[in-house]
Amino acid sequence: MEVKIYDSTLRDGTQAEDFCFSAEDKVRIALKLDDIGIHYIEGGWPGSNPKDAEFFREIRNYQLKQARIAAFGSTHHPGSTAASDPNLKALLEANTELVTIFGKSWTVHVKDALRTTLDRNLDLISESIKFMRQQGKTVFYDAEHFFDGFNADPQYALATVGKAMEAGAECAILCDTNGGSLPSQIQKGINAVKEKFPGIPFGIHAHNDSDLAVANSLTAVEMGAMQVQGTINGVGERCGNADLCSIMANLCLKMGYACLGPENLKRLRQVSRFILELANIPSNPYQPFVGRSAFAHKGGIHISAVEKNPKTYEHIDPGLVGNKRRILVSDLSGRTAVKRKAEEFGLKFSKSDPVAMQVLEELKDLENQGFQFEAAEASFELLINRTMGKSKKYFELVSFRVIDQKLSENKDPVAEATIQIQVGGQLEHTAALGNGPVNALDKALRKSLEKFYPELKNMELIDYKVRVLPSLAGTGSKVRVLIESTDGQDQWGTVGVSHDIIEASWQALVDSINYKMYKAEKDNGAEKSVERRKTR
Ligand SMILES: [Zn+2]
Repeated sequence: MEVKIYDSTLRDGTQAEDFCFSAEDKVRIALKLDDIGIHYIEGGWPGSNPKDAEFFREIRNYQLKQARIAAFGSTHHPGSTAASDPNLKALLEANTELVTIFGKSWTVHVKDALRTTLDRNLDLISESIKFMRQQGKTVFYDAEHFFDGFNADPQYALATVGKAMEAGAECAILCDTNGGSLPSQIQKGINAVKEKFPGIPFGIHAHNDSDLAVANSLTAVEMGAMQVQGTINGVGERCGNADLCSIMANLCLKMGYACLGPENLKRLRQVSRFILELANIPSNPYQPFVGRSAFAHKGGIHISAVEKNPKTYEHIDPGLVGNKRRILVSDLSGRTAVKRKAEEFGLKFSKSDPVAMQVLEELKDLENQGFQFEAAEASFELLINRTMGKSKKYFELVSFRVIDQKLSENKDPVAEATIQIQVGGQLEHTAALGNGPVNALDKALRKSLEKFYPELKNMELIDYKVRVLPSLAGTGSKVRVLIESTDGQDQWGTVGVSHDIIEASWQALVDSINYKMYKAEKDNGAEKSVERRKTR
């Protein structure tokens, strides 16, 4: 059995709020999607967006493995003919062998949005598709608002689909454009299509406004849909499109469809991250299958059960989609958790090892002080290393000073930090300005260290969170700072706690830099051992 995947991340996806790509990004994404075995890639809507024309020009320079690029556009304008319509012209100029034409299925839309007659709309569908067929194109027909249209006037909605197929469309994709349909309504609409046009090749395009896009898409597949349209991570207009990550995982792992194949499926998480990274959008930790927390275990009972048999609290093996099991460390967890956590970092010791006890004690102590490691795994990894006597000091602080200066009521303050550090006996004295004290301190520290450790240049702080902790009787309140850093490849969190916000930030900052250095060494070590294996 096969279902073809039609990716619309580059077209419908870019209609999401705060989500956009340059033509260059789009090419990189298309190559990645081709690489994992996506069948169709919708590159854009050349008639509506000049940037999309650039993508189509550019992608022609690449030899794709198997994906077919589609250009997207509407039926021709009611006031023109197919041959003279600027939208269809732009579609032809995209120079793809495959085009997707969308037309109106819902009487309300024909009358109010398109402002034409029901008969004229049928002509538009027919003429636009026939014209494209004459130009040698393969045509997919997107029946926009099919299910709402079917609800309002079943005969008319079905007639639009009939016209498209008669005109030579290869597949009719039934769209739940407003995303409001229930799976039972999807069933009803599809049953009617199958009854009226037996054996017709059809697909599904679902939006997520009722949080049912994935369920509706899978329902359609169960009823015989041969094409599923969606976007990676479910980005798209309003609440988004159907998330292809969940759809492809379910098709492959639960429903017995070949889909991407098991090897490509293992790259699902990586592709999901790659696209978010290019769009500069934070990932959703709770995203099914590919999210950071999708296989994260926190409760002690859960952890020990998963330890015995992962099936107890996991619906699939996380490795199948390129994700991994995570054991969250908190005061809820015991020695098993510490041991498992250490294993995740590649450090091995047994549950009865005194190091495990020591880490646990230190952990409890730090958590009492207000530290929290669930979002600061890098700090926790450094803590284990320290307890095992493995940590390394990359630099020594001599002193720092931060000044915040506001020169007039309507001017922003300027912060300046000076810092003295020592690296291998060499004293370094640096100053930097910043848009706030922590920013200035971060800049000064990095400026002084980059000379010794050039790998710090590609690292940046991407998130900074401060939380005031409830104070205990007789003490002032403390703050906890969480910093999220990245080097483009990985992302890691570190934590600091103090009565002083600059000090708490400093601790998290130092952990972040130490972690980056430690990670670089670890990666280097891994590369070396691979090389060694090769030469043997
Ligand atoms: Zn859509």
